[in-house]
Amino acid sequence: MADPQTYLEQQSERYYDDLLSLLRIPSISTDPARAADVRATAEWVAERMRAAGLEGVRLLETAGHPAVYGQWLGAPDGPTLLFYGHYDVQPPDPLDEWVSPPFEPTLREGRLYARGADDMKGNLLLPIVACEAWLRTGGALPVNVKFVFEGEEEIGSPHFGDLLAEHQALLACDRAICTDGGQLAEDQPTVGVGTRGIAAAEIHVRTANTDLHSGLAGGLAPNPIHVLANLLATMISADGRITVDGFYDEVIPPSAEERAAIAAVPDDSSLLQDRSGLRGLVGEAGYTAMERNSARPTLEVNGIWGGYQGAGTKTVIPAEAHAKITCRLVPDQEPAGVIEHLREHVARHAPAFAEATVVTLPGSSDPFLVPGDEPTLLAAEHVLEGLYGRAPYRTRSGGSVGALPLLRRYLGVSAVTIGFGLAAGGAHAPNEFLPLDLWRRGQRVYAMLLDALAEQD
Ligand SMILES: [Zn+2]
Repeated sequence: MADPQTYLEQQSERYYDDLLSLLRIPSISTDPARAADVRATAEWVAERMRAAGLEGVRLLETAGHPAVYGQWLGAPDGPTLLFYGHYDVQPPDPLDEWVSPPFEPTLREGRLYARGADDMKGNLLLPIVACEAWLRTGGALPVNVKFVFEGEEEIGSPHFGDLLAEHQALLACDRAICTDGGQLAEDQPTVGVGTRGIAAAEIHVRTANTDLHSGLAGGLAPNPIHVLANLLATMISADGRITVDGFYDEVIPPSAEERAAIAAVPDDSSLLQDRSGLRGLVGEAGYTAMERNSARPTLEVNGIWGGYQGAGTKTVIPAEAHAKITCRLVPDQEPAGVIEHLREHVARHAPAFAEATVVTLPGSSDPFLVPGDEPTLLAAEHVLEGLYGRAPYRTRSGGSVGALPLLRRYLGVSAVTIGFGLAAGGAHAPNEFLPLDLWRRGQRVYAMLLDALAEQD
């Protein structure tokens, strides 16, 4: 009987064919015309889980696209590991920029090009085939596993919280891995440990019931756009510190260990500058670019409007002005708390002749950070370092992934993110690709990780 690693090698061609089949189904979750394809993909994944020897496989229905569930619980004394991921993909547009069609996976120089190759159909198959290798060779897994792959990640996981609430007992677990990650370079393993949260609001300023003549009322009537501009100016200082009263009260500054982990990752801020033609970089004094981009909160004005926007001149004093604001959050900020700070700040700083209100917008999510001593993190780092011969980076994303804080809220687990595509693999863009060498290494990592978690326990 072969061992799991040998089995993976022996099945390499079959697994590649599986990947091609999965990539051919256009599971574009945002496109109503593709709803049947999204469901067909869920059914394909469920069938593949059954074929791997997983049990209790079924679709978990939501108000939107279904999630796929599977389990193997034959290790009564072992921990239960949950794999989270998604089977939906982004639309392939613009189509004419693809060298080969997005849903006809094409291999060029060791890279498989297709929509979803990197994000994340390749990654989705890895833990399934790793479990299959254990089950086919020894009839058992070293630990218990559960899988939940949702079909709405690319549209912001709108029903994932409801799904976790409804199936809390079914999905109960001790450890979790988010399989939706990637590496910064082919030979550099990477473990994702954090994402920022987000809070969104609008500020509305009103100074009159009607627009006024700028001559006849000028010198008497206040201008709401001035009021709004002054309010916004009280929110951030010239050296990049956010000056909303109380904004930093809940912020936990990065520890020395966290700062060292961030410093170990190459600073790519100049790349951003080159690519986008930024005239310069800004940010909070006292923190490195990478810290400002991941471990510190931000406040951005995303839009501002009011008054006359048409051609030529209109001599008006408008009655109202508006701005849209989003903040990226870090532990232990909470969206509602941050909006409350903003509301109190605006109330305190608005002049008596203006009504200034702050309205919360939907789309918030909590910040998320895996504790530095989380056992899953240590096991993943141990396996990756052994296989690659170098210590993985611990990366924190500046963006927001709703599912990670939801997994913590409903299941009490801190999911560690790993993935076997490249950060530059074109996720969401034309010519998305997956390096096949990396993908095959990922199969081995998952097979070893199951064992590492059992030994650790
Ligand atoms: Zn993804």
